[in-house]
Amino acid sequence: MSVLAFLEQRGGEWNRMSWETLAAARQIGADLGRPVHAAVLGHEVAALAAEVRGAERVYAVEHPLLEEYTAEGYALAARQLITRSGAWLSLFPHSYRTRDFLPRLAAAMDRAAATDVIGHRAESGALVLVRQVFQGKMNADVRFAGEPPYFASLQAGAYRGETGGDAAPVETFAPQLAPGDIRSRPSAPFREAQRAVDLAAAGTIVAVGRGIGDADKLPLVERLAEALGAELAASRPICDAGWLPMERQVGSSGQTVAPKLYLAVGISGAIQHLVGMKGARTIAAINKDPEAPIFEVADYGIVGDLFQVVPALIEAIAKARGEAGD
Ligand code: FAD
Repeated sequence: MSVLAFLEQRGGEWNRMSWETLAAARQIGADLGRPVHAAVLGHEVAALAAEVRGAERVYAVEHPLLEEYTAEGYALAARQLITRSGAWLSLFPHSYRTRDFLPRLAAAMDRAAATDVIGHRAESGALVLVRQVFQGKMNADVRFAGEPPYFASLQAGAYRGETGGDAAPVETFAPQLAPGDIRSRPSAPFREAQRAVDLAAAGTIVAVGRGIGDADKLPLVERLAEALGAELAASRPICDAGWLPMERQVGSSGQTVAPKLYLAVGISGAIQHLVGMKGARTIAAINKDPEAPIFEVADYGIVGDLFQVVPALIEAIAKARGEAGD
């Protein structure tokens, strides 16, 4: 009985959270000694499915009625695949789509779903999933009761997406769907806002917080971001004050990011901020308060006044660049 990762595509384009879902499936599969399978739903998706690596098998779940996303179509097709393949645990990216159809799927199979999971561990051969509760103030362990199939969705950035491994053999699965099964009509996909910046895809982020003091001081951190080739992000008070646009806010009510480097400048590290950036590979923080909670998650910390530290950093980067160019 497999761990089955449901990968998400839209119009032939992968949602990159798919690779995080596959990585989670691989880790859980390895921890519990279960085979890892993947599935992609849509119309004529076999070629896309052939791009999947690192699973023992990938199902191309194909039907003309899956060309456009509907909760009914996806839930019905996923249910048939889970029943046919005997999947033990089905994993999904916690995307808007998953939020829409996973409750329907789990309820149709008389099961609960553990949603927005941030991690897992194996305990005496059993799976324990970790979810955040109370706005991320506490973590709760979740164990499935009763018989499989089990269902879980994964918070963006909770697992590091991986695309390595051997190409997975593709198996086409044709679900039984009829037009009468689909009672909703898809309209244009939901967009939170027209985003000029995609922080989620940024490799390096410099984030600024209230420690900056005033909007007219922002050019200092902008210069640092520029020197590092980074996107500029912010904590909520900066965006609430209108100093930077909302689309640059990181946190529970902003974007979730997972860059290689996240440099937090004058940010205290409130839990609502941390949930949006703790998936970064390396976290560095500049804060004048040695007790600031940001230092609890930081790999590197500089305790000091940002107005002294940031100019020195910019100078050091410019010098290193100059020397590299010599
Ligand atoms: P502060 O907490 O004021 O911290 C400023 C930091 O700067 C301090 O640690 C201080 O020591 C340091 N500092 C000051 N001067 C200097 C200096 N000269 N040099 C160096 N360091 C200095 N917040 C988010 O960020 N994102 C969210 O999505 C979000 N969502 C929320 C949702 C809800 C429902 C709620 C209730 C809150 C949310 N918040 C969010 C707000 C969050 O709780 C914090 O209030 C916010 O993150 C604090 O921002 P900050 O760290 O920039 O400011």
